[in-house]
Amino acid sequence: MTTSMMVNPANFIDALRDVIGPTDSPVSLHEPTFAGNEWNYVKQCIDTGWVSSVGKFVDEFERRLAEICGVERAVAVVNGTAALHICLLVVGVRPGDEVIIPALTFVATANAVSHAGAIPHLVDSDHATLGLDPAKLDRYLDEIVDSGRSGCINRLTGRRIGAIMPMHTFGHPVDMDAVSSVASRFGIPVVEDATEAVGSAYKGRPAGSLGSVAALSFNGNKTITTGGGGALLTNDPELGRIAKHLTTTAKTPHAWDFHHDAVAYNYRLPNINAALGCAQLENLPDLLARKRVLAERYAVRFSELHGLNFIAEPAFARSNFWLNGIILDRDYASDRNKILEATNNAGLMTRPCWIPMHRLPMYRDCPQMELSQVDDLVARIINIPSSPKLVAHA
Ligand SMILES: *Cc1c(COP(=O)(O)O)cnc(C)c1O
Repeated sequence: MTTSMMVNPANFIDALRDVIGPTDSPVSLHEPTFAGNEWNYVKQCIDTGWVSSVGKFVDEFERRLAEICGVERAVAVVNGTAALHICLLVVGVRPGDEVIIPALTFVATANAVSHAGAIPHLVDSDHATLGLDPAKLDRYLDEIVDSGRSGCINRLTGRRIGAIMPMHTFGHPVDMDAVSSVASRFGIPVVEDATEAVGSAYKGRPAGSLGSVAALSFNGNKTITTGGGGALLTNDPELGRIAKHLTTTAKTPHAWDFHHDAVAYNYRLPNINAALGCAQLENLPDLLARKRVLAERYAVRFSELHGLNFIAEPAFARSNFWLNGIILDRDYASDRNKILEATNNAGLMTRPCWIPMHRLPMYRDCPQMELSQVDDLVARIINIPSSPKLVAHA
């Protein structure tokens, strides 16, 4: 090791290789691990014919999820986007409302707002958490809203602000106490986009238990997977009941009659996917432990390079380290694409952060605050391989 090693594509690749060790190439960003009862439970579905919209694994998955995430009720759904959509509906977001979301997120957050007929209102992020900046949001709302009997109205557009939806970026929790206090000061419900954060905790409280409702995702690239899937979490039994009803075609209980009492959705998670989910949840502690070891190894190895920082968990949080990443110093931001190019060519998959919502054609003209932190962060973040299998034993 030479002293003062400034980051470049070659030593970045060396650092990745040192941590990952010899593996099959290419190394992807995040792969699922099936090490427990997955095959057994899925086979049970096929053997019994219970593969579709109801079954014992759906009930079991919802029960175990609620327990692990510390909430009263979990409703399993077809994906994380659908979970976010229903979250917004159950907290009362109506067509024409605005919903506050960070500009720095995956597009599904904004799409869910659009599916509810609402308009994303984009806000800036905080360097410490990579999530919504509560202090900046507080000052901004003071400037732009009128609070009255009809709710919190954006004076610039005349539209009601129906929800605030913080997102736990890469699994690192947002400062939820600060977000919640802003939200309650303005009387706006909080929907937690915890799609990346199953298994993370904020001040000892599980991600997904920190808002009125929360959404999880079990897509193939997330910490645990059901193939595709998601869940809505809540401590409010009435919101849970409405969510279950709306995601299962709003059918009223009857032995044989098809009666429905609302325009609703078929957002059910099939039993065969829930079977996979039950097995994955059994392995969650092991997956989290391995991901934590991987993050620690990266933190140590990347600390030998100058010109970047490994993205660590915020002080108040225990992260699931869903997706590891580094952030280049501003002087090295112009090297980002060279590093991305070289690592991918070497069979080590890396990715830039998402293009933020205010740079996408369909969301460019949404109401938004000044977004300089997001632009600064996006120019410098590189995500690196994060699969649990990259650590043999925790
Ligand atoms: C994964 C993800 C979603 C959506 O999940 P799907 O299951 O893919 O629909 C939503 N928001 C964020 C921030 C995500 O990372």
